[in-house]
Amino acid sequence: MKHFPVPDYHIHTYLCGHASGQPYEYVEHAISLGFSEIGFSDHAPMVSHRDPTVTMAMDELPLYHKMIEQVKEKYKDAITVKVGIEADFIPGYEAQTEKILQAYPYDYVIGSVHYIGDWGFDNSDEQEKLKKLNINDTYRAYHKLLRKCAQSGLFDIMAHTDLVKKFGHFPTEDISDEIIATAEIFKECKVAIELNTSGLRKPAREMYPALATLKLFFQHGVPLIFGSDSHRPQEVGMDFNQAIAAAQRAGYRECLRFRQRKIEEVVSLV
Ligand code: ZN
Ligand code: FE
Ligand code: FE
Ligand code: ZN
Repeated sequence: MKHFPVPDYHIHTYLCGHASGQPYEYVEHAISLGFSEIGFSDHAPMVSHRDPTVTMAMDELPLYHKMIEQVKEKYKDAITVKVGIEADFIPGYEAQTEKILQAYPYDYVIGSVHYIGDWGFDNSDEQEKLKKLNINDTYRAYHKLLRKCAQSGLFDIMAHTDLVKKFGHFPTEDISDEIIATAEIFKECKVAIELNTSGLRKPAREMYPALATLKLFFQHGVPLIFGSDSHRPQEVGMDFNQAIAAAQRAGYRECLRFRQRKIEEVVSLV
C-alpha cells in the first residue's frame, strides 16, 4: 500500500452545513489511501453573524469535539486523528474568536480570510462583485487582511493564501510586492501556510497558493502543511502527490506536524 508521508490537515464535517458524509467515512478513506495521520478542521462558529450554510453553530461545538474524539479513539491503531479547526479572521472580533478557540484544546488552528469587509468573496452567490471591482485592488485588500490575520496571534496556519482566484479571477499586474510583504509577516509571526489542493477542483484549476507564491513563501522561510479542504469523504488526500511535487518544486523539503498547537515533528518530503 502506498504511504503518504504528510498529513492532510484540512478536513470538514457536515456540521458546517455544506459538507457531506460522516467523520468515519473521511477517516476510512484516509486509511485506504495510506495516510498515517489526518486532522479535522471544520468551520468554527462565526463571530460576526450566523449562517448555517457556512459554519457550525456555537452550540454544535461540543458535538464537533465529541465526533472527532470518537473517530480518533475508534481508529487509533490504524491512523492518528488530530483535532483542528478553521476559524474566520474578522477584524474587530478577535476577542470573540479567541474565546471560541480557547473553549476546547486543539492540535492546530487554521486562520482563514473568506471576507473582505462583509463581502464573502469566495461565496459563489457573491462572486458578481469580483467583476465589478478592480481585481488587483481586491488581491491587495485580501493580502492586507492575511497579514492582520497572522498578526492577530490567534492562528497556527494560514489557509488557502490566494483564495481570491477561486472563480478564476487572477491578478492582471505583478503583485509580488504584496506577497513578499505577507511572507515577511508570516515568518515574523511564526505561522505556517497550507498547500491546499481544493483549488484544483474549482474554476481557478490550481492549488492555493500558486507555485510562484509558494516559492516566495519558501524563500522567506515560512513552514508548510498540506490540506485537501475536503467537504466530501472521497476528497481526503486528493491530488496530494501533485501537491508534494509542487512543494518540492517551490523548494520545500519538509512539512510540519502539529500537536496541542505546537510543532510536533518536521517531516521530510523526500
Ligand atoms: Zn467549507
Ligand atoms: Fe476556507
Ligand atoms: Fe476549509
Ligand atoms: Zn477552507
